[in-house]
Amino acid sequence: MKLVVLGAGESGLGAALLGKAKGWTVFVSDFGQIDSETQNVLTKNEIEWEMGAHTDARLLEADLVVKSPGIPEKAAPIQLLRKQGISVISEIEFASRYTDQTVVAITGSNGKTTTTSLTHFLLKEGGLNVAMGGNIGNSFAGLLLDQPASHFVLEVSSFQLDDIEQFKPHIAVITNITPDHLDRYGYSFEAYRDAKFKISQNQTEADYLIYDGDDPNIAAGMKDHTIRAKKLPFSLERPLEEGAYIDDKNIIITIANNQINMPIASLGLQGQHNLKNAMAAATVATLLDIRKETIRQSLTHFQGVEHRLESVLKINNVQYINDSKATNVNATYYALESMETPTVWIVGGVDKGNDYSELLPLINEKVKAVICLGIDNSKLIDSFGNVVDLLVETTSMQDAVNVAYHIAERGDTVLLSPACASFDLFKNYEDRGRQFKEAVRSL
Ligand code: ADP
Repeated sequence: MKLVVLGAGESGLGAALLGKAKGWTVFVSDFGQIDSETQNVLTKNEIEWEMGAHTDARLLEADLVVKSPGIPEKAAPIQLLRKQGISVISEIEFASRYTDQTVVAITGSNGKTTTTSLTHFLLKEGGLNVAMGGNIGNSFAGLLLDQPASHFVLEVSSFQLDDIEQFKPHIAVITNITPDHLDRYGYSFEAYRDAKFKISQNQTEADYLIYDGDDPNIAAGMKDHTIRAKKLPFSLERPLEEGAYIDDKNIIITIANNQINMPIASLGLQGQHNLKNAMAAATVATLLDIRKETIRQSLTHFQGVEHRLESVLKINNVQYINDSKATNVNATYYALESMETPTVWIVGGVDKGNDYSELLPLINEKVKAVICLGIDNSKLIDSFGNVVDLLVETTSMQDAVNVAYHIAERGDTVLLSPACASFDLFKNYEDRGRQFKEAVRSL
């Protein structure tokens, strides 16, 4: 049987190696360049590959095709394969066919990585043999090759969910749904929302769906989809008979007759959004029978993930925070909301059609100066020019941090939370966050 893998990134390589190990004849085809390390691994494993183009005739020999989440549906080879009736699936679908172990899958517009990392931490501290991957770190296929885990905690993007058929996590989490990546969904928010709900499409009554019960977009999606899984919402706004909610400074989680509570004050992560992430992760841990005391302690000890509201340094009593991963307005909303002192805010980059209006009340309340960091700052200037006393344009991280240093006074916070993609001035959001930290450390 012939397996064609389109795209030789992390997930493509994982799928190719897993396919090979399971007896497929594998051919990897990448329209771009394949890095030399990946070339070596493929060759060493006797897997044929091509790069710089797709050879249609080779693709059409496939019995099954696994495609990289980066390749859009409208790409020519996908259209060709679909026309010929050849099955094209995502890597998580392919990998899931080779394991019966428990899968926890986490999706959403924001908070995926934080919730996935926190869930993994709780389960690991609880003594489970758990592996983490998917959209972060190793691909699911890669994990199956390497680790004999009993539980897999996977971060899954909407692109990875687009091409599933039978993928069925025992526990699914939807952290929230706000507009993002609409260019891949014909600018239809419903289409993007539907992709997120696919996480639950194959679940049965024996499975669980954990989700933000305060999110109107999720509520609307619930009406349009049949959910067979047991629903466990979490809410900051109202008490819930089943699920997680806040009662006077405590998180209360109730599942069947089991109840656990923990004080909010002892949580390791700050901000309302992280309270939600903690509720989601703790609900998973409760479902998997992790001891209450272990959950409480682990929530206290979890230190967060790099580039997500990451405290960098305090200089002259000014706190510097790196939230480079905030690549959309919603993520930045929660960052600003969690600020407790006057804030010098570094924002900007590649605008993805942002609507900044929902930030205005928070900016009024918390932001003393806006530092624009991008090649084209015109939209930021239009949006915030009249809202703050001070707005400065910069075009390098070094400049932005220097300006922030001069504006900030004792007790203030300097926050990098760009609400935009990073590709105008940086390789990616990690590069942007690292440059910020280096600039702060050399002040
Ligand atoms: P993702 O993997 O979905 O991009 P991350 O955990 O990497 O999510 O966080 C991305 C950005 O969103 C960060 O700026 C983070 O502070 C913010 N964020 C984290 N959790 C949430 C949430 N539940 N709602 C909104 N924003 C969040």
